[in-house]
Amino acid sequence: MQARTDFKTVTVSPATRDFLSEPHQLLINGRWQDGAEGKQLTTYDPATEEPLTQVAIGGAEDIDAAVKAARQALQGPWSRLTHFERAKLLSRLARLIEDNTDLLTEIEVLDNGMPSFIARLTIQNIAEMFDYYAGAAQRIEGRTTSPPRHITEHSEALTYTLREPVGVAGLIVPWNVPASTAVLKLAPALAAGCTVVMKPSEETPLSALVLGQLAMDAGFPPGVVNIVNGLGADAGARLAEHPEVDKISFTGSTATGRRIIQAAIGNLKKVSLELGGKSPVVVMPDADLAAAIPGVAMATFFLQGQNCMAGTRIFIHESIHDQMVEGMAAFAQSLVLGHGINPTTQLGPLISLAQCNKVLAYIESGLSDGAQLVTGGKRLERPGYFVEPTIFANCTPDMAIVREEIFGPVMTVQKFSTTNLEEIAALANNTVYGLSGSVWTQNLSTAHALVSRIRAGHVSINCHGAVGTNIPFGGYGQSGWGREFGEEGLNAYLETKAVTAQL
Ligand code: NAD
Repeated sequence: MQARTDFKTVTVSPATRDFLSEPHQLLINGRWQDGAEGKQLTTYDPATEEPLTQVAIGGAEDIDAAVKAARQALQGPWSRLTHFERAKLLSRLARLIEDNTDLLTEIEVLDNGMPSFIARLTIQNIAEMFDYYAGAAQRIEGRTTSPPRHITEHSEALTYTLREPVGVAGLIVPWNVPASTAVLKLAPALAAGCTVVMKPSEETPLSALVLGQLAMDAGFPPGVVNIVNGLGADAGARLAEHPEVDKISFTGSTATGRRIIQAAIGNLKKVSLELGGKSPVVVMPDADLAAAIPGVAMATFFLQGQNCMAGTRIFIHESIHDQMVEGMAAFAQSLVLGHGINPTTQLGPLISLAQCNKVLAYIESGLSDGAQLVTGGKRLERPGYFVEPTIFANCTPDMAIVREEIFGPVMTVQKFSTTNLEEIAALANNTVYGLSGSVWTQNLSTAHALVSRIRAGHVSINCHGAVGTNIPFGGYGQSGWGREFGEEGLNAYLETKAVTAQL
């Protein structure tokens, strides 16, 4: 069946048109400037393949200048702000984001392709993140503890800990939810008192530039927030290896994550990694199918599957397998593909031709490996990188579509017949990744017993990918190192210093 589409001509607000027509430069030391080599890249609307605008990109020299500015700012007035003053700046930035929600939403849709209802939610969420970390900044506290015996044997003593910013943080961001993944790093880094150099993805360079301007408008001192668009192998690689960068926080593919670790070895900088996934979704015989059919389908298809948490390995008990698969196929066929600006759009395009071709190649490999194509499988014959939501049944664990992260709207279904939770968990855990997962059942005991057996950083019951600002998120296995969101997200940018005073 043909995918449902809605491709009305779209219009954007005058503020967005103005933004697109302005020059887009690098933000270094509080000043917008072109890259040292004067290079530009064109960013495209993936729903139309039309160019949106040109963006200055930087290389190693620009990263060096930005790191220098960040290091100077670390020792400047920024370091003397109280936690409350830092919090005030973060809250001010949250208000400015709220004031610019429409602009940020439209830019995110145009640059990334995501539907506007998702973009709007993510922009509301990034304002909330700055508010959350403004609160967290006010509660950064050390502790007092018992001094060591070899000191107290001679005199009274006092031991306490200080929480200090880790220093200059390099933030490397992917394209799939650009503003959100940027702020997940920016807000806790600033709350901790770090200064930052951020490198957005070359696929989606725009929303970070709006955030940079809003950070300046909020009053962050020059050099605290630096933004250098550029290519991964050039600007990104220099940031990751830079000897004056104390920490790298990276979100992206597992393959690039490995390169980041290699690059960070030189000065043994701290590294946080949020990487890929191939998350399991287990549907037990007693699942509420009315909820599970759309819920499991969207676990795969949300953001066209360009979602690190995507539930793409679906395990369904044989007693409900056919009903689930038929229901999800009908649901997939009902989803409306279109330009994200259009309010009826539920699925947008993939980010680029390369990504589209990669997803189509995986679909071919699924067919040649003998998986049963239930629905979808084709690129739409029109401009834009649209691929139909696709469901494969009769999948087996050895197939590439089951083992590898596709990052597209491709679901793989495996049928199981056991009710033994150890055996079911073994199926779910048969992956090198461990980012997310979900369990669908109406039996609370089954739900919790199964969740405790699934090796992943974030597992949901009767829903999928229930992330939130205050809820820690990160991966087991090859899905990453460390956690973002919540208190753990802040700790990633803090060092602990222990102090003992002999009195
Ligand atoms: P990517 O690894 O290709 O790129 C991510 C970023 O790294 C980009 O800014 C890129 O320019 C930069 N980069 C590329 N090569 C580099 C290098 N050698 N040195 C330094 N930086 C370099 O990933 P992507 O295609 O942008 O994003 C998709 C991937 O991100 C998927 O694997 C997805 O699962 C993952 N992801 C994970 C999470 C999470 O929270 N775990 C969230 C979103 C996306």
